[in-house]
Amino acid sequence: MLVGESMSEYAHSIEVEPNVHLIRGLNKARFPEANSLLIDDEILTLVDAGSDMGQVSRTLKDLGHKMEDIERLILTHFHVDHKHHSEEIHEISGCEVICHPLSDQGVETFAGMAEYYGITNHPVYETWKVMVKGWIPPVYSDYTVTGHYKDMETISCGEVDLIAIHLPGHTLDHTCFGINGVETIFLVDIDLTGFGPWYGNKVSDIRVFQDSIKKVMKLEPKMGISSHLLDPVTDGLSTRLRAFLNTFDEREAKILKNISEGYDTLEKLTRLPTIYPRIPDEVFLVFEEFMVRKHLEILVEDAKIIQDGCHYRTERR
Ligand SMILES: [Zn+2]
Repeated sequence: MLVGESMSEYAHSIEVEPNVHLIRGLNKARFPEANSLLIDDEILTLVDAGSDMGQVSRTLKDLGHKMEDIERLILTHFHVDHKHHSEEIHEISGCEVICHPLSDQGVETFAGMAEYYGITNHPVYETWKVMVKGWIPPVYSDYTVTGHYKDMETISCGEVDLIAIHLPGHTLDHTCFGINGVETIFLVDIDLTGFGPWYGNKVSDIRVFQDSIKKVMKLEPKMGISSHLLDPVTDGLSTRLRAFLNTFDEREAKILKNISEGYDTLEKLTRLPTIYPRIPDEVFLVFEEFMVRKHLEILVEDAKIIQDGCHYRTERR
């Protein structure tokens, strides 16, 4: 039996660096679960609150702590699967809760978050609202933010330093964390999953996301920790980052091909679908739609397609 192994088929946490523990989400950390990091140091620090509370409790217990001992909670961005248990943990421990200044709106209220999603006036809004509550029961409640970190700020936990690296695109506030430098980076939702990059919000941006991935590649990290993979990636990390970045171009090529085959409106392209391999629920169509629309805007801008009202065509007819 592995150290820390519980009822699930994998250990609830692993130490990725001295005093830095990766708390793995349930269900292989797939959405709506996400990993968290626990820094067992002078200031007991949790990064993100997306992993199941049982996983957090078990990790704390292994290290001789309890939930009440958490002193600081750092949020990487406003997404539901990352802020999830944040308010509950804040209420139990009285910990400070810090985030990027741009996270405030999305973290603090449900209405603010929905605005950031860009879904408020969408026909699926009510259905989405109910669905999110099913995934993330506390989501309608207000969340406390007690302070902020700045881009490139070093947050000292004692022995361990966390370096906030603002890498937007996935969302406007998306922030990764270097651990004692930049050789090991918590990549958060530059998540290296097979799905590829996700940018289905009003506050997501393809070009900014591409730049952020390129910035990570320039830092040449040796270890990348994803919010949605059970293990840190070391072998072939640069190749994995490159493949993740290439997904944008692959999707663009697919959209061009689909347009040339007569899927010439946003609606038709969304219905295919183009980006999601399959739509798990009708509600997800909205994110497919937002992502495809962002590609279409860029394709029009780059003169790779021509827009005629709500119809698109490739230059060659
Ligand atoms: Zn996210």
